[in-house]
Amino acid sequence: MNLPILSIIVPCYNEQEVLAETMEQLATKVEQMIHENIVSKNSKILFVDDGSIDNTWKLIYKASLSNEFIKGLKLSKNAGHQNALLAGLFAAKNSSDCLISIDADLQDDIDAINEMVRKYMEGYEIVYGVRSSRESDTFFKRFTAEGFYKLMDKLGVKLIFNHADFRLMSRRAVNELEQFAECNMFLRGIVPLIGFNSANVYYDRNERLAGETKYPLKKMLAFAFDGITSFSVTPIRLVLLVGFLSFMISLLFGIYFLILKFFGKTELGWTSLITSIWLIGGLQLIAIGLVGEYIGKIYKETKRRPKYIVDVDLLNLPISKKIGN
Ligand code: UDP
Ligand code: MG
Repeated sequence: MNLPILSIIVPCYNEQEVLAETMEQLATKVEQMIHENIVSKNSKILFVDDGSIDNTWKLIYKASLSNEFIKGLKLSKNAGHQNALLAGLFAAKNSSDCLISIDADLQDDIDAINEMVRKYMEGYEIVYGVRSSRESDTFFKRFTAEGFYKLMDKLGVKLIFNHADFRLMSRRAVNELEQFAECNMFLRGIVPLIGFNSANVYYDRNERLAGETKYPLKKMLAFAFDGITSFSVTPIRLVLLVGFLSFMISLLFGIYFLILKFFGKTELGWTSLITSIWLIGGLQLIAIGLVGEYIGKIYKETKRRPKYIVDVDLLNLPISKKIGN
């Protein structure tokens, strides 16, 4: 029986604090799995440097010289977590049977990799890593994450609850993923659209090994907002609904004011006026902003710009041309 060639894809953005440890642990994992005849000896770990400004690439390059399982891909500039992941998946897919994406900080349990590969061997094309506990996350992160998954669900987007970007995909699934040409690739939403047989593997999420989160609140909110507006037009419908409601309310107000007028109490004025001006003005701005968000998305998609640009590809370059800095 042929053993599957596994590629582990690790996007890295300024991860010099954790990288040595991550490389060590993942390389050991792959060596073990090869030794136990679970995966082929052509398996590898591909570290994608997403335009880091610290020593991330130097570390990757150096490790690739001394460890045969460690490979590197350097993007020309920071393209974002999702795009870095895509770059790695597409660069490695032709030389892999199955591919696993995992974060560089090892918050996801690498022991779940065995189970993922087992599921793949059972015939599943996509295996989602699902966190069974988020105890290591702050209360705030847990709270916002939960809210996000619930909101997405309400908006009709099918997401796997508590699954981030720790997942296995077969080469076939990655080939299909390549057909999704949109430039905003919110993978958690897109991968389920591929279909095929899928399974879940549960694990406990750890704390970041070292370094800081690369998703500060602002980026996290932007990511969530992008996820929502890329997958659902419900927000724009909500605006319509709110507009309709406020129109009805102002009608009622009108009737109320007329009644007051009939009963001779006409010293109505400033308060109600100013409140309604602000209310309507606010609603209008929200509506315009929201419409603008969708139009902006259309504008971006029509340009068809590349999602990322590869600078150095240690997988496919002859050794003489490898660049270490
Ligand atoms: N990352 C990336 N490009 C970016 C931001 C993040 O490649 O622009 C990588 C980062 O190095 C890590 C993964 O994406 O491997 C997830 O980031 P992080 O662990 O900081 O996010 P959190 O777990 O805090 O949500
Ligand atoms: Mg993390």
